[in-house]
Amino acid sequence: MRPDPSLADLPLRPELIGEEPYGAPQLAVDVQLNVNENPFAPSAEIAADMAATLTAAATAFNRYPDREAKRLRCALARYLGHGLDLDNVWAANGSNEVMTHILGAFAGPGRTLLAFTPTYSMYPEYARNTHTRYVTAPRHPDFTLDADLVLAAIAEHDADVVIITTPNNPTGTPTPLSVTEAVLQGTDAIVVIDEAYQEFSKHPENTALTLLPSYGNLIVSRTMSKAFALAGGRVGYLAAAPAIVDACRIVRLPYHLSSQTQLVAEVALRHADHLLGQVDQLRRTRDEMLVRLPQLGVEVIDSDANFCLFGPFADRHDVWQRLLDRGVLVRETGPQGWLRVSVGTPDETEAFYAALAEVLKEVR
Ligand SMILES: *Cc1c(COP(=O)(O)O)cnc(C)c1O
Repeated sequence: MRPDPSLADLPLRPELIGEEPYGAPQLAVDVQLNVNENPFAPSAEIAADMAATLTAAATAFNRYPDREAKRLRCALARYLGHGLDLDNVWAANGSNEVMTHILGAFAGPGRTLLAFTPTYSMYPEYARNTHTRYVTAPRHPDFTLDADLVLAAIAEHDADVVIITTPNNPTGTPTPLSVTEAVLQGTDAIVVIDEAYQEFSKHPENTALTLLPSYGNLIVSRTMSKAFALAGGRVGYLAAAPAIVDACRIVRLPYHLSSQTQLVAEVALRHADHLLGQVDQLRRTRDEMLVRLPQLGVEVIDSDANFCLFGPFADRHDVWQRLLDRGVLVRETGPQGWLRVSVGTPDETEAFYAALAEVLKEVR
């Protein structure tokens, strides 16, 4: 082969031809409200704790990390409560790696992953990368789900793994626990409840964790990227029956979770009270946003997460661009005509309202 080949010169897997790397634009603007990060940076105290912990551990960085990440998994189990322990919890580099482990173990060639649209745009990528067939069923027009809809889609597609995202991304819609339980009563497929935004919901105690003792095919997926303000740390985790954790342990790469990652996540968990206090503030800002956006003259979908879907716009890209021109980055995702904005700090959120008010004058 000639040096410096183009992609087309390489023997790429056929299903990857024409694919683009996934990702929202990462633009260095003042007000970044596009990927649902927690806008509050770690406090000086937490940052110092992280630095001191890494400094103390650095002299052991010639050694491989704990392959089983036992101390971190114990800390995550303690955080989750509900009588969970080490054997019930699995952790990896973000929920995206957790999902890859789940699909590596329970999906793959000849098997099917089912999700309910509109939903998280990463799911088809996980499916593709694990050679899994990806199918979707539409949510109701108000973006809710009920057990009949879910069970009918499982039957229609003969799904092996089903994902219910609650609160859903990008709509913010919660799925009641009663629906999840009725689904679990009706299927032996692996049911993943993606609770990436659970801490932001109005009733975080209504979590599928409460159903774990009754249903062996249930996986509850969480992340430290949102509530724990640790998107840069890359830690996602799941809670499930110990056999499901064992299945993930088979397919993980050896030493998948670096020593640094494990340590930084443990520090964040030690500061859970402080970090979850900030989540309370973000929930209040979210509730305010549900009132403020209609006052500006746009519709907003009721949200239980740290973001809101607002619109509709005849040309959403134009609105997105005009907001960006004012230093406010939101996300062009979800149903045609709608945009998604993450809840920011009070200042960021005010800057967003001000920019949107100006833009609406221009486009309407
Ligand atoms: C943000 C998000 C996650 C978390 O992803 P990480 O890989 O842990 O950063 C998981 N699921 C959904 C639906 C999300 O929006």
